[in-house]
Amino acid sequence: MTEKSELGIFGGTFDPIHYGHIKPVQEAAKKLSIAKVYLLPNQQPVHKPNASADSDQRLAMLRLVCAEYPMFSLDTRELERPEKSYSLLTLQELVAQHPGRRIYFFIGMDSLNTLPDWYQSERLFDYCHFVVTRRPGHPLAPAVQSKFAHRIIETPQQPPKNETGNILIFDTNQVDVSSTRIRQYLRQQCSIEQLMPAAVAAYINAEKLYQ
Ligand code: ATP
Repeated sequence: MTEKSELGIFGGTFDPIHYGHIKPVQEAAKKLSIAKVYLLPNQQPVHKPNASADSDQRLAMLRLVCAEYPMFSLDTRELERPEKSYSLLTLQELVAQHPGRRIYFFIGMDSLNTLPDWYQSERLFDYCHFVVTRRPGHPLAPAVQSKFAHRIIETPQQPPKNETGNILIFDTNQVDVSSTRIRQYLRQQCSIEQLMPAAVAAYINAEKLYQ
């Protein structure tokens, strides 16, 4: 990665990681010519139930994905923080470490719909652009659309002129899968092989996760 290249980041619980994470981000990153996206596993957020896989297991699955997809690398800073982890702090650290580089923060549409509730959400736009991929069953909420109308660029054909502050919504192929559904499938002993890379499915089976 050259010093001035764009920095992609993609946060999530990844419990477990699946093709709904990987494929839309891969597609949108390609459209923006972003060569590297850092996976930022977070601690289990308060509004989610306890993870069924522990941090080491979630990390092991992310490492398998990074080995198979060279565009992804791992950034464990949010897992390593002793206190509750805020995206604002992560972005401030990244900007300090990579001055002059644009940051593209990848999220799914369901996350965009909750963005107004994130800690100091307006300040996040001082540090990054958001790149949003569509997700089945999660249309853009009208209230969020009107709140962020001045920031949203649908189906962008080129990178934004501003260094930060836009929400780029891409029409990537939608992948109808969630970690919740995968955990359910495993409890019901249904196949998960089509929903994630084979190495991740093999790890889940070997570790007997989510059963
Ligand atoms: P859970 O079912 O446990 O809530 P999840 O499948 O939503 O998990 P997360 O790790 O919470 O996965 O999501 C991380 C990020 O990936 C979020 O920004 C989310 O919107 C996005 N994402 C997850 N699944 C998809 C999908 N199928 N399509 C597009 N974006 C997705």
